[in-house]
Amino acid sequence: LTIGVPKEVWENEKRVAITPAVTQTLIKKGFSVNIEAGAGLGAKFPDFDYKSAGASLVDKEKAFSTDIILKVRQPLQNEVELFKPASTLISFLYPGQNKPLIESLATRKINCFAMDCIPRISRAQVFDALSSMANVSGYRAVIEAANHFPRFFAGQITAAGKVPPAKMLVIGGGVAGLAAIGQARNMGAVVRAFDTRAAVKEQVESLGAEFLEIKIKEEGGTAGGYSKEMSKEFIEAEMALFAKQAKEVDIIITTALIPGKKAPILILKEHIESMKPGSVVVDLAAESGGNIETTRPGQVYTHQDVTHIGLTDLSSRLPTQSSTLYANNISKFLLSIGNDSHFHINLEDEVVRGSIVLHEGGLMWPPPPPSVN
Ligand code: NAD
Repeated sequence: LTIGVPKEVWENEKRVAITPAVTQTLIKKGFSVNIEAGAGLGAKFPDFDYKSAGASLVDKEKAFSTDIILKVRQPLQNEVELFKPASTLISFLYPGQNKPLIESLATRKINCFAMDCIPRISRAQVFDALSSMANVSGYRAVIEAANHFPRFFAGQITAAGKVPPAKMLVIGGGVAGLAAIGQARNMGAVVRAFDTRAAVKEQVESLGAEFLEIKIKEEGGTAGGYSKEMSKEFIEAEMALFAKQAKEVDIIITTALIPGKKAPILILKEHIESMKPGSVVVDLAAESGGNIETTRPGQVYTHQDVTHIGLTDLSSRLPTQSSTLYANNISKFLLSIGNDSHFHINLEDEVVRGSIVLHEGGLMWPPPPPSVN
């Protein structure tokens, strides 16, 4: 079977679905790899390295007209006609938000797997590209904040006087939030964090940050490990906490998301206006509506001397790192479905059933809810 890797065409997208090292692994498993010339350049993987790994450098049409197509971003409408019938696409797809695209992919009678729909069970952790990208985004959020912050992160005692450490609040302690806490602590900031899931307290504290709590007891985690929408009373109570924190901290990083829903607004314009001049806020929920009322998705701008970072391409800003992690996730997922001599889509497999969006053109998404034993 031949694997095709087209160059990503989304604006500012620098990632690539597989690295030269992963190319070599897939070739060892018996696949042939057709990679579009220049596909890895944005992530600093030259064509020559793919060629040395055994891949063929091809044009866009040849990369798409293969048996298995590996991508990072969902295809654009004008790429849909390039798929050959019965081929298999594995990519981020967000089927809930891209219904017209899924309908046109269905007309090609292909199989499609969404990397964003892989069930969050232990066995599938190695395929979990959402976590890989969240890890990179959390790290980069801190680097972007530091770049705009007018002081050091770590406290210092110098001949010119004592320098206080930067104080940071992280809202949401999922994968991205924990990565941000870890990085900010490495750089010497004093960090406090809040989450609706009780299990996060221990994780936050193990990274040397303080876990903030409110009086209302309401669990934000569901049995499947995902977070749920909180009651109005809970949201009001946490917003009162953040209103107080906004006056004290220098940097706020928000990461609060509810799968499949608009992100909750947790920081209002008036809280931003109460922050110290020179403060920085980073809204990692910007693409899902934002946690901060004043966020402008995709933009960096200043409102009353508070820098707002609403960038939505943070993982693509570390393209070598994110592509390396993504390549490992997608190739391990592909190899779990099969190798060159035995490639069979087993709909009985929980991970396959959870992530398959189209099977021979037939709509398979959303999958049936997991059975409760
Ligand atoms: P996410 O990106 O969906 O949400 C980020 C965080 O925001 C979550 O921790 C959530 O609890 C929090 N949040 C939601 N509403 C909030 C509110 N009103 N106020 C404050 N915080 C709020 O989450 P994620 O990072 O993708 O994953 C969450 C957790 O799922 C992880 O920490 C992990 O425990 C689990 N997980 C498990 C697997 C696996 O088993 N394969 C993989 C990935 C994640």
